[in-house]
Amino acid sequence: MKFLFFLFFLFSSLSCGSCYTKPLKIVATIPPLASLVKSLVGDAGEVRLLLESEGSPHSYYMKPSDLLTVESADIILWIGPELESFLVPILEKVDKKSVKVFSALSVKDLVTYGYRCVSDGHHAQCHHHHGDLDPHIWLDPYNMILVAEALKESLIHQFPSLKNILEENFKELKTKLANLDQKVKNILRNSSSQSFFVIHDALQYLEESANLKPSLPMSTHPESGLTIRRLRTLKKIVRLEKVRCLFGDKAYDPELLAKFARKLNLSYKILDVLGYRDYDTPLDYEDMMTSLVLNMSSCLTAARKP
Ligand SMILES: [Zn+2]
Repeated sequence: MKFLFFLFFLFSSLSCGSCYTKPLKIVATIPPLASLVKSLVGDAGEVRLLLESEGSPHSYYMKPSDLLTVESADIILWIGPELESFLVPILEKVDKKSVKVFSALSVKDLVTYGYRCVSDGHHAQCHHHHGDLDPHIWLDPYNMILVAEALKESLIHQFPSLKNILEENFKELKTKLANLDQKVKNILRNSSSQSFFVIHDALQYLEESANLKPSLPMSTHPESGLTIRRLRTLKKIVRLEKVRCLFGDKAYDPELLAKFARKLNLSYKILDVLGYRDYDTPLDYEDMMTSLVLNMSSCLTAARKP
């Protein structure tokens, strides 16, 4: 009897690609990717978000528990070394036969841009250093359609039994993302002639897709204070470019940001480009994008401060 049980366990634990019945264990690094893959796999997968709390994926440090999460996954979905550089040494070590790694940034035909370097008239500065590609690709909904499609193909290849579910969910997701793309453009339509400052140069993909003016990078972080000369230069830019808004993000002290904006006579908004409104339930990608662009447009289309 014991032997029969042993045989039963032996056979039931042998996995094969085409007869996968357990939900796939999927780890996604940031909320937009978690949301995308969840829409794609539905009940066929359990999606875990790796960077659960707010903070910058540019400078994240792995916890020991993250390592276990990554190692026990069937699929790891990330943007790429340009964003989550903390994952690089871990991914080098995981067993590639049991863990499939999917990088959104390496999807074919994706619209990508290089980082813009900031020139303040004296020297050029680049704030990001991990590779030359600007990794904030999710801020263009069209890119997310391409990522979803490539991910679907890769999953079908790996788990053929899920083909029908994946094809069906992708069709629905593609329509939703195309509608979102249009919605984002509509919301920002009246903002296309406005200039604005950003503290974190993350909006390039959105600016390009929604036909906004390129943001003016601050090149001075609120934490590092403002010299009189720098203040004078910034005030001149505000005047010449008729700048109304300063967009910061949650990585910076809101009081310092407010003080900074006051000195330059600008309105300011804190943007959430990732979807961490609530620790327990990160925002769905569509909701994140919608609230992001509504937040931006409310500042850009408001009357300019006298
Ligand atoms: Zn960023």
